[in-house]
Amino acid sequence: MRADDFRSNLQADRATVETCIGCGSMRTFSACGNGCDERPVELVSAGDYDALIASAAACRERLGLLLAPVDVLSPGEDDALEWRAVYLAARMAARTALANWRATNHQPDVTAAPLETVTVWRCQDCGGLDAPQPCIGVCKWYASEWIDALQVDRAARMASDDEDTERRLVGLLGRLAHSTPHDEDWERSVRALRAEAQSIDARSRGGAIDTLQPACVS
Ligand SMILES: [Zn+2]
Ligand SMILES: [Zn+2]
Repeated sequence: MRADDFRSNLQADRATVETCIGCGSMRTFSACGNGCDERPVELVSAGDYDALIASAAACRERLGLLLAPVDVLSPGEDDALEWRAVYLAARMAARTALANWRATNHQPDVTAAPLETVTVWRCQDCGGLDAPQPCIGVCKWYASEWIDALQVDRAARMASDDEDTERRLVGLLGRLAHSTPHDEDWERSVRALRAEAQSIDARSRGGAIDTLQPACVS
C-alpha cells in the first residue's frame, strides 16, 4: 500500500465538540429530550491523530526505499543460479537504499509516546455528549475536533508494526551492505538473506496491515 493510500485509508470519523478553554469541560447538546443512553467513550484530539498519521505515512515512504533491495533478493525468472551476481546486486541495492534512507533524516523513537485520551459520556442515539469539570469562572467555549480512541488504536498499531519492520530492514540491509560471504559461499548467503527478507516483507505487505484494511472500509 502506498503512503497516500495508507493515509486515506486511515481517515477517521471526527466529532466537533464544544470545549471550555478554561476548565476543559466538553459538551454536545443532546436531541433525545430526557432519555439519553449515555456511555463512557475515550476520545483523542484530532490534532494528535493527524500528527500520528503524518508520521505513519512518512514511515511508509521510508519502507518503500528499504524494500527495493528485497526485490533484488527475491527469486525471479532470471534467477540463473548466478549466486555471486545476485549477492553483489543486492549488496549494491542495500547500500543505495540505506543512503536514501539516511537522507530522510528520520529520528527514530520520536513518535513512540502513546496519545493522550479523555473520557466523555456520549449518547448512543443522538450523539449528545457531556464531560463536566469544576470551572472556577464562566466557561468560554470553542469548537474542537475529536476522534474515537478505538479508531486511533488501529492506526497506532499499524504505525508501530511499520516502525518495527523499518528497524528490522535497516538491520538486515546494514549487515548485507558491509559483508562478503565467508569462503565465497554466495548461494548459502543469498538463501539466508532471502529467507530473512521474505519473513520481514511478508509482515509489511501482508500480515497486520492487510487484515486491517476491511475494517477501515466498513
Ligand atoms: Zn441522546
Ligand atoms: Zn469552564
